Order: sequence, then C-alpha cells, then structure tokens
Amino acid sequence: MAETRGVALLGSTGSIGTSALRVLARQRDRFRPVALTAHGRHELLAAQVAEWAPAYAGLVQGGDDLPAGWHRGPACLVEAALRPDVDIVLNAVVGAAGLPATLAALEAGKRVALANKETLVVGGDLVTAAARTHGGTLVPVDSEHSAILQCLAGRQPHEVRRLLLTASGGPFRTWASDRIASATVADALRHPTWQMGSKITIDSATLANKALEVIEAHHLFGIPYDRIDVVVHPQSVIHSYVEFVDGSVLAQLGAPSMELPILFALTWPDRVPDDGVAPFDPVALGSLTFEPVRHDAFPMLGMGIAAGRGGGAAPAVYNAANEAAVALFLQGAIPFGAMPALVAGALDRFGGAAGGTLEALWAVDAAARAHVHAQAGRLKG
Ligand code: NAD
Ligand code: MG
Repeated sequence: MAETRGVALLGSTGSIGTSALRVLARQRDRFRPVALTAHGRHELLAAQVAEWAPAYAGLVQGGDDLPAGWHRGPACLVEAALRPDVDIVLNAVVGAAGLPATLAALEAGKRVALANKETLVVGGDLVTAAARTHGGTLVPVDSEHSAILQCLAGRQPHEVRRLLLTASGGPFRTWASDRIASATVADALRHPTWQMGSKITIDSATLANKALEVIEAHHLFGIPYDRIDVVVHPQSVIHSYVEFVDGSVLAQLGAPSMELPILFALTWPDRVPDDGVAPFDPVALGSLTFEPVRHDAFPMLGMGIAAGRGGGAAPAVYNAANEAAVALFLQGAIPFGAMPALVAGALDRFGGAAGGTLEALWAVDAAARAHVHAQAGRLKG
C-alpha cells in the first residue's frame, strides 16, 4: 500500500467536517488528517485532536485557555493548508472566510476538496486561474457537483449540451408565498432531506443555495450559464444530470449522504472500496418526482443566477449580502421574507463594481454586509 496522503480538514467541527472524519476513520490506510481547524467550538475540536493527534490544530476564535500548541486566529486556515505534510485541503468552512485557504492551497499546487462553495461564488475567476497557473486541482464535495463530475467522466465542455442541477425545494416547496414570508427560524431549519449546518439550511429554504451552486458549476466545469438549469426533485436521490450533445442523459443516484461525495473528492479520479453507506435500494427509496422551480415564491434563485451572469463583483455582493441576511434571520432580527429585498438592495448598490482582484472583492464584500445591516436596522425602525 502506498504512503498515506495528508489531509488538512478546515472546519472539522461542522456538518461536513464531522462527516469527513467518519469517512477518514474508514480510510486510515489511505489518508491521515494532519491538520484540523475550527471556528469557535473548542471542546469538540479538543475531542477530535485527542482522537486523531493531528500535527496541527487551529482555532479561529478562542480564549486564552487553549491547549498548548494550538494555533489561534483567522490565519490558521492558510497556515494549515500550506503545511508541507498536507497533500489535500478539505475545505469545509462556511462562507467567504474559506476563500484565502482555497487560493493558497491551489497556488501551492495542492488538491482542494471543496465543500466551501462560497469560495467559487466570491472568487471563481481567481480560483480557477490559480488552479490552472500553479497546477492545483479543484474537486467538488457538493453532492450536485460530485454527481456532475462523475457523469462527465472526462468529457469536454463542447460535448455537454446542458447541466441539470436537482434541488430538493427545501421545507417551503409547497408553501404559499405569504406563508413563506413569515416562516420562523424553526420552520426554515427543518430541511426535508439533508442534515446540514444552519447557514446552508437557510440557503436551501430560500433556494439561494441553488444559485450558489449554479455559479459553482459554471466555474468548476466551464459551462456557460445558459446551459445550466435547475429542476426540483423533492426526494434528493438523483444528485444531478448531464445532458450531452447527442441527447443522451446521465445521472448519478444515491440516498442523501455527504459521505460519498466527500470520499470521491479525496480519491478522484479513482474509486476505492468503502462500506460506510447502506447499499442502494431503489424499492425502499420509492418514487422519484420532478417539478419546475417556483421562481415567484423563491426570488433568491433567479437573483443569484443573474448576479453570476453579470460577473464582476456581483456574485461576491450577492454572497456577502446573503451571508449577512441569513445571520440576521437566524438571530431573529429580520423576518424570512425580508432577505430577498436586502440582498437585492445590496446588488443594486454595489453589483456593478469591478471584481478582478482579491482586494476589490473584499471591499465589496464588506460594503454589502454593512449595507444589509444598515437596511435591516431601518426595517426595525
Ligand atoms: P457548519 O456550520 O456545520 O460548519 C462550518 C465549519 O466551519 C465549522 O467547523 C466551523 O467551526 C467553521 N467555520 C465557521 N465559520 C468560520 C470562519 N469564519 N472561519 C473559519 N472557520 C469557520 O457548515 P456545513 O454545513 O458543514 O457547511 C460547510 C460548507 O460546506 C458550506 O460552504 C456549505 O455550503 C457546504 N456544503 C455543506 C453541505 C452539508 O451537507 N452540510 C453540503 C454541501 C455543501
Ligand atoms: Mg448541494
């Protein structure tokens, strides 16, 4: 057996992070976690460090009572990613905060197994250029994009007619628009098919998540926006489709579990034996159904795709305004129905800015967040 490959797991305490450690626990002869980082949950990180004994542990925020040898502050993400014993950076951080580590790892020629989709929404052009220039490899963890990668199997963009991303539709798929507008935090956190962190769960309730994923797909696979579509598929069994120029359609299926796409992002283009997920049972899964997106009830989807098409700073503005709005909603500071107007306001104000550099992107990111906070304050009166 070849030497094991070192993994930096950024965001080890989150939903993807803990799923990744379950995968790594079954694959100890192939991979070893050499760096773990978390934001603030230092008790869980301490338990993970005790179990895995990584060479590096980093905490973004924390008191003075951290265990000896832990690294502290936002710089720990890039520091962990750049360690010479790290071959693969599994970026499972939530939000734009994950971008610098993705860029640094690709610039160092490493593989990035990317769950942090905000990385590609904010800095898609810079990230794909960094991978091209420095020989880094970007492999998606997101289930839709993992499905597409598996269906593409090395085919070129000109052989693809269309990518079709499936969306569960979220908890409000069948709700009337006025009822959606006053949905509570508890309503919005009750996702029908996936157990995930709170930010992406709210994004799945507004369908902003699917807009982020369309932008992510555009950058990962080099397919123009007019050849990427979304279909609602409530059972989340078909993870996405690729339609080829000859009319043939391939799909990838499985019960909803992030452990498969996490493993594939580590092993791609190879497949390795793994028995962590129950065998596929189509009879138990029952019928598979499809519906069009209700764009009138879920304006965040079309708004995000338009921001992606607009390019420049617009996707970064959309992402930052959405992050700020979701955080305010989760705090109980604004109603569910206020989020689209807050994001639209930030896009109107800053969406036309240029995006070409990291500095420009961080400037509009900060401006969009500040704008959302100011507008939300005005909402409260
Ligand atoms: P989560 O909230 O459960 O976990 C986030 C992790 O990132 C935690 O370990 C946290 O400590 C860390 N973190 C949070 N803010 C940070 C910051 N500012 N700096 C550094 N670290 C920070 O989120 P999640 O559901 O695991 O999602 C992580 C990413 O994966 C997101 O981009 C999400 O969109 C994507 N994703 C998640 C799922 C899923 O099933 N959970 C599926 C597809 C994609
Ligand atoms: Mg997804």
